[in-house]
Amino acid sequence: MAKGEKKGSAVRGFKAEEFYLSILERFPNPVWRSGLKAEDNYFNQAWLEFTGFRPEETKGDGWLRAVHPDDREYVKQNICCGEKKSTKLLYRLRHHSGQYRWVEEHCSALYSPAGEFSGYIRSCYDITEQRQREAEPGLVGAYDPLTGLPTKRLFAERLGLAISMAARKGRYVAVLHVDLDHFKLLNEFLGYEMGDELLRAVSSRLLGCVRQGDTVARLEADEFLMALADMAHGQDAALVAQRVVNRLSSPFQIGDRELFLSASIGIALYPQDSREIAGLLSRADAAMYRARQMGGNTFMFFTTEMNEQIFRRLQMEDTLRRALQQKEFLLHFQQQVDASQMRPVGLEALLRWNHPTLGVLPPSDFIPVAEETGLILSIGEWVLREACKVYRQLAQRGLQPLRVAVNISQRQFKYLGLPGFIEKLLKAEDMPGHMLELEITESMVMSDPVQTSVTLHKLKELGVRVVIDDFGAGYSSISYLKRLPIDRVKIDKSFVHDMLQDAQSMAIVRTIIAMARSMDLEVMAEGVETKEQMEALKKEGCQLMQGYLFGRPMPPESLAAVLKAQESTGQMIR
Ligand code: C2E
Ligand code: MG
Ligand code: MG
Repeated sequence: MAKGEKKGSAVRGFKAEEFYLSILERFPNPVWRSGLKAEDNYFNQAWLEFTGFRPEETKGDGWLRAVHPDDREYVKQNICCGEKKSTKLLYRLRHHSGQYRWVEEHCSALYSPAGEFSGYIRSCYDITEQRQREAEPGLVGAYDPLTGLPTKRLFAERLGLAISMAARKGRYVAVLHVDLDHFKLLNEFLGYEMGDELLRAVSSRLLGCVRQGDTVARLEADEFLMALADMAHGQDAALVAQRVVNRLSSPFQIGDRELFLSASIGIALYPQDSREIAGLLSRADAAMYRARQMGGNTFMFFTTEMNEQIFRRLQMEDTLRRALQQKEFLLHFQQQVDASQMRPVGLEALLRWNHPTLGVLPPSDFIPVAEETGLILSIGEWVLREACKVYRQLAQRGLQPLRVAVNISQRQFKYLGLPGFIEKLLKAEDMPGHMLELEITESMVMSDPVQTSVTLHKLKELGVRVVIDDFGAGYSSISYLKRLPIDRVKIDKSFVHDMLQDAQSMAIVRTIIAMARSMDLEVMAEGVETKEQMEALKKEGCQLMQGYLFGRPMPPESLAAVLKAQESTGQMIR
């Protein structure tokens, strides 16, 4: 009989358990039961819905992955709070949207029908909003807990401010809607923890794509918003969008995995697409949808006209890339002279594009696009290589070696591999460093002082000379220039052009010459076209010059002939 009774109570126990589990199952809050053994754990439907976990993912310690990594130890320590006690835990639980929510978990001890302690029943209450209200009254829901980025609410506020500022100043604002391609698949494959880490890494890359004053926000799961404020041209948003596409395309190192991501980006512009916050958001969203339909890893503007403009630019990029392959670029060289002795002291390499249908194009026609698209790095390397090659060829013809100056673009100068590239090149061409001169502009020097200083010192170690081109046109801080290893400044040709008619230009020329002298820098005037200009510059103490008066830029073959004739006659020949 005792045996039978035992069996009966077990059956009753089983039924009772089934009964209360069926109640828990329908309970609207996330509820779970922690048993004495991990296999007795049970999670109700609301818990699974909240976290997005499948039942099998909760097995063993699997459920702990829904708890914020920083709170796991605390939850583990407190999971067993001693028999017959009831208690509360406070921790962050991952919502299926990717956000961590603060939950208050109420635990009460659970007994079998036989009166034996058998674990805890734990119900969770989402108290995120309440906590935020208490902690930061003005900031309820303003920041996303996972990434620390503003949420849509704060984004809308900032966008509103950007719009009213743009309206006053006649500027543009762009809204970018960034959606990660196939993130959901990746997230499921990797697990939420790595997914979270990836989202944090994405958000910091996005932040790296914008300027101060722009806003990056997290909309939901794998969608982000960016507001680009105070823009001079609407189409500049394409540069930022392209930057985002490029930055996301380099692999992410998460744990010991290398992960690849791409994004679809939609762009809406104030004022042309809409003047309202909601209108801009919905248009950016619609444009994002089209980018996704194009197969992702790209961006689209809301307006067709904008897309066409960008398309033309992409075509241009394509043509430029082909031009490089087809060897359509060439260098012209212009002499630089010491006017006091009328002898050449150097050559400036100037890039030309021999376009198959348009003829020879000046750099102003294509350098800006090459710069924007990043192709300038390859083109710039070609220019450096070609300039050094011409230097060697002239020397091989028995001509007196002349220093070669090469113009370096902003992006090329910022490229960390530049000094290394030049070092190898000089070795390969057997060219002394001091025979190569790099022309950079004031704005390049001023834009990133630390980086500039590092790069310039590396170049100095190679013996390479550095010249500030178009000097006077920018806004350098002279005291700052003094601290950098610079050899020469070139007075911008606009001042040389005007100096004899315009007192202010003359004053600038004088100031630059005096400043250079006081700082022990060489000074060269460019764009010298007339004898009068030459004489005036000499009188002011500037002997180094470049300009049509002494010779136009010309191909290497013609240059070699001119140099040869000059050497034999001792006369400058144009
Ligand atoms: P820059 O370095 O200031 O070059 C001087 C420009 O003035 C050249 O124009 C040259 O042809 C022109 N020039 C020379 N003498 C005179 C003169 O007496 N009067 C006038 N009015 N102009 C004169 P170019 O070749 O069209 O080059 C324009 C700019 O393009 C250059 O300005 C430089 O900033 C850029 N550039 C040229 N080649 C390259 C290159 O290989 N790479 C990069 N990144 N930029 C380049
Ligand atoms: Mg130059
Ligand atoms: Mg110049």
